[in-house]
Amino acid sequence: MKMVVTGGAGFIGSRLVQTLLNLGSEVHVLDNLSTGSTIHPLATLHKVDICHPQAREMIAALKPDVVYHLAAQADVQRSIQEPDFDASVNVVGTLNLLEACRRANVRKFIFASTSAVYGKLQKEKLVETDPTQPISYYGLSKITAEHYIRLYHDLYGLNYTILRYGNVYGPGQTAKGEGGVVAVFMDRIARGMPLPINGDGEQTRDFIFVDDVAEANIAAIRFGDQGTFHVSTGSSASVNRVVDVLQDIHGSQVPVLYREAKAGDIQDSCLDNSLAEAVLSWKPAISLEEGLLRTYQFRKPQ
Ligand code: NAD
Repeated sequence: MKMVVTGGAGFIGSRLVQTLLNLGSEVHVLDNLSTGSTIHPLATLHKVDICHPQAREMIAALKPDVVYHLAAQADVQRSIQEPDFDASVNVVGTLNLLEACRRANVRKFIFASTSAVYGKLQKEKLVETDPTQPISYYGLSKITAEHYIRLYHDLYGLNYTILRYGNVYGPGQTAKGEGGVVAVFMDRIARGMPLPINGDGEQTRDFIFVDDVAEANIAAIRFGDQGTFHVSTGSSASVNRVVDVLQDIHGSQVPVLYREAKAGDIQDSCLDNSLAEAVLSWKPAISLEEGLLRTYQFRKPQ
């Protein structure tokens, strides 16, 4: 099958590209290389901005079977500072691609969304039908993009699956953007610096390993038409727990630096993944301990 992966040079996109290539797909990456730089030698890179008419022309020329849309302005803080830029990439850029996919009769559009669409909604486990109340422009632009996707299906029959990821971590993640606490810790360990923790470290997140996210994207080729799914573990771990596991792996005590809690930070986040397990026939395979070990081994301290 012929696949397009927007954002395929990024942290998650490049892992997906690798997985698709392993399955024998022809893979084209549309990326402007603004934050990503991982180019697989067997994938074809088209250096283009998703907002540019050239991106449409490329999809028209390629006529892919599936378009994975992962390219995004994925930095929550930047979205607060530059909401117009955030919307131009995440809303207008997505719209540009949807229009291209409609015209090129693309068989499926698979979108990378986020738990940030729920904002501060406090529930032990969030389900996909819970109300969305974003508290950042990033969350708002992602839920807006979701609505455009659903409407493109209603008006033109464009087939889609929306995947809302938890906090993705793994080898190759840089210490910025969304969900980057593990990447920040890896960076500090490698440089022999203390691990910075905002607040008391008891805030929890649903940490999901990047390979599991790639596998959910593969499952969405066959399953989950017109569905919205959590790509998560369905359980959460505190930041302090992540530190404990990393201390064990590292084999010696790493100093921790507690700082003031970040204003607007969500206390707890856990995404129920039973819908994805039932409909996508997918479930996460990598435990937090195993995922952190793999991430650590990828970037061993010098
Ligand atoms: P990333 O920054 O590593 O990857 C994004 C890629 O998109 C980069 O290669 C970048 O160069 C490219 N890109 C950005 N703007 C572009 C544009 N205008 N035109 C073309 N290419 C552009 O981020 P990531 O962590 O791999 O995230 C991938 C997707 O997953 C994003 O849509 C993000 O919102 C979503 N997501 C990530 C997480 C997480 O924990 N990392 C959680 C939820 C959702």
